[in-house]
Amino acid sequence: MTHKIYQFLDQTRELFGDEIFIQSSMKTKAEKHRNAANGELTKFNEEIKDCQNCQLGSTRTKFVFGTGDPNADLLLVGEAPGVEEDRIGEPFVGRAGKLLDKILAAIKLNRSKGVYICNVLKCRPPNNRDPLPSEVEQCEPYLQNQIRLINPKLIVALGRVAGKTLLKQDVPLKVMREKIHYYEQTPLIVTYHPAALLRNGSFKKPTWKDFQWIESILLGNIEIG
Ligand code: URA
Repeated sequence: MTHKIYQFLDQTRELFGDEIFIQSSMKTKAEKHRNAANGELTKFNEEIKDCQNCQLGSTRTKFVFGTGDPNADLLLVGEAPGVEEDRIGEPFVGRAGKLLDKILAAIKLNRSKGVYICNVLKCRPPNNRDPLPSEVEQCEPYLQNQIRLINPKLIVALGRVAGKTLLKQDVPLKVMREKIHYYEQTPLIVTYHPAALLRNGSFKKPTWKDFQWIESILLGNIEIG
């Protein structure tokens, strides 16, 4: 192997002098996967961004596809865009989003490295009402495809609506919390929605406990199925 590398370097020196050219075909497997996932997500966004499958298509300002690292180990799934997200076209950019960024920073993550963030619904329900079952039904295939393309190590559902949609279980959040569930083969944890922490400070401590657990799983310090 070493011999082959020297031979390759000698050949390129003969051709190009001391400059080393790395062809795109020589990218690492991880880079290739990352670029592929990024390209596929961008393409998928292009395909669905003008969606009119439900009535929210006519009331939204911007379609909120999702944001973050296409090769993320951690996928966070919220409920639906709010007023700020609808205006900007990015998930979790309002007050709840700022809090989410702080929580992520506390476990040394951020939305451009190791994390992808999206919602069950890609369009804002008027007056921030709960998503209707028919809207979830129309939008869910988009989320399913995002999960397939990102292929994360762990999914974290933020709040009851995301948990209920992904797990097909209509139970209170506290019943879904503190358990490892599975979305197809991918481990899934349900925790409080950051907006719930803004309304009720007593949820902060259990949420922090959940995120410490999430960090340990991502670091491989806790083995799960
Ligand atoms: N709440 C959500 O569930 N998603 C967002 O993007 C913002 C607020």
